[in-house]
Amino acid sequence: MAQWRGIVALSQAYQVSPSPILRRRLIEDSEALISFRNLSADFVDDLKSIKTMVFGSLAVFAVLLLLCAVILLVVNQVGVRGRLEVMAHQDRLTGISNREHFIHTSKRANHAVAGALLMIDIDHFKRVNDRFGHGVGDGVLKEVAARLKAEMRQMDLLGRIGGEEFAVWLPSLDVPGALLVAERLRRAIEAPDFPDAGKVTISVGVSGWPMKSEWKASYHRADRALYQAKAAGRNVCRSVEV
Ligand code: GH3
Ligand code: MG
Ligand code: MG
Repeated sequence: MAQWRGIVALSQAYQVSPSPILRRRLIEDSEALISFRNLSADFVDDLKSIKTMVFGSLAVFAVLLLLCAVILLVVNQVGVRGRLEVMAHQDRLTGISNREHFIHTSKRANHAVAGALLMIDIDHFKRVNDRFGHGVGDGVLKEVAARLKAEMRQMDLLGRIGGEEFAVWLPSLDVPGALLVAERLRRAIEAPDFPDAGKVTISVGVSGWPMKSEWKASYHRADRALYQAKAAGRNVCRSVEV
């Protein structure tokens, strides 16, 4: 508006001005004012389009940010759930299956295939704790679990079912075959010596587990066989047939 008023004032001055030089100056000034006005209008238009562009980009950025946050939240939730599931299945000390997971999984597997069950108990473990302390006892439990696992097939299942008691589900093996595995496991614990606790041994009870038969019955047979191994002087394997 101010420029328009300037132009009107200049043109009025032009009409009344007698001097040609002054007239030329007035013409030049009004042309300058007009081009300034056009420039200002362009500038305002540019500002408007920049504003639209910036707000548009900000909106897109906000949507992308929101999308990323949602994706991160979902991935995190899935990870947490997975970790919780693993934690629920794992024995915290040794990292192998805990009692519940071992029983549940071996029972389910037994619906499809017969196999054998090993009950393993560390001999005189109380003495390890008494002599070397609970920390060393924990270390022995971890090392026993690791050595047992290293001797097993991929399809076998190892679980810690009590303080110093482990169980193994051996699918598709009969009692003589399972006894060979049990003997291999026994030897793997007997030697070499454990770093802090020296010589550690296990006793092993073996029982057959016919397909779809009761877990409890197989468990009791394996436990009876383990009792016989302890009674025979420990560091041996014994079996009870079905
Ligand atoms: P046996 O040869 O007859 O099996 O004798 P044992 O000493 O191994 O058996 P007992 O049942 O008398 O002792 C088991 C010990 O295992 C007692 C308990 O303190 C210890 N124990 C159980 N759970 C843990 C554990 O998580 N960590 C440690 N360090 N010791 C444990
Ligand atoms: Mg025991
Ligand atoms: Mg024991």
